[in-house]
Amino acid sequence: MNSSTPSYHETASPETVPTPAIRDFRFLKTDDLLSEFNHLAEWRLDLKARSADTSYFDATLTPMLKELEGRKRLREAYQDDPLCPVWPDTRDQRYQRLLADARDLKAIWPLERYLATVVGVDLRQSGRHATCRCPLGTHDDTTLSFVAYPDDHFHCYGCGKHGDIFTLTGVYFGIDSFADQVRKVEAITGTMVESARIIVANEEQVIRDIEAVLS
Ligand SMILES: [Zn+2]
Repeated sequence: MNSSTPSYHETASPETVPTPAIRDFRFLKTDDLLSEFNHLAEWRLDLKARSADTSYFDATLTPMLKELEGRKRLREAYQDDPLCPVWPDTRDQRYQRLLADARDLKAIWPLERYLATVVGVDLRQSGRHATCRCPLGTHDDTTLSFVAYPDDHFHCYGCGKHGDIFTLTGVYFGIDSFADQVRKVEAITGTMVESARIIVANEEQVIRDIEAVLS
């Protein structure tokens, strides 16, 4: 990047979907990186099928893919070394279940509902997005820096954090692993994933039920 390129914060505005900052993947396990990548890729495909804006996901997925490709090359180069870690098996049942659970939780908890009901922030609608004070507690936010976009991702213009309900929960509780973030959302929403599958099949009625229980 040349030095005259404007920074993320200079280019980002709530009116346009901002480009996410480059993440540091060094301490993320390949297992976690791959499951988060596949989860976001599925979500992007879903948006694309609805002709929605996928720019946030394109920008998020590209560096993740590059990192995964780099690790795959390393794995190939060192595969004869007995200490070389095994590449995650995406056909593995545990892995498939994690992705299904993440999908279901996201269907029940769109970002705005999660923010208003679980996190308990006071959301203000502003055009197609909603804003609130940053709930992450890392800065004193008096100007509603936190923006929730219609594609269910957030960006905070105060601290620069961005992501979805899992990232939000991960930042708040200091959890880096995607699998652990999904389990934490499951635990704090008290949502049994098995019943969540029924909820997705019969969404409107169950949302009313959830709201009745939580109100
Ligand atoms: Zn913030």
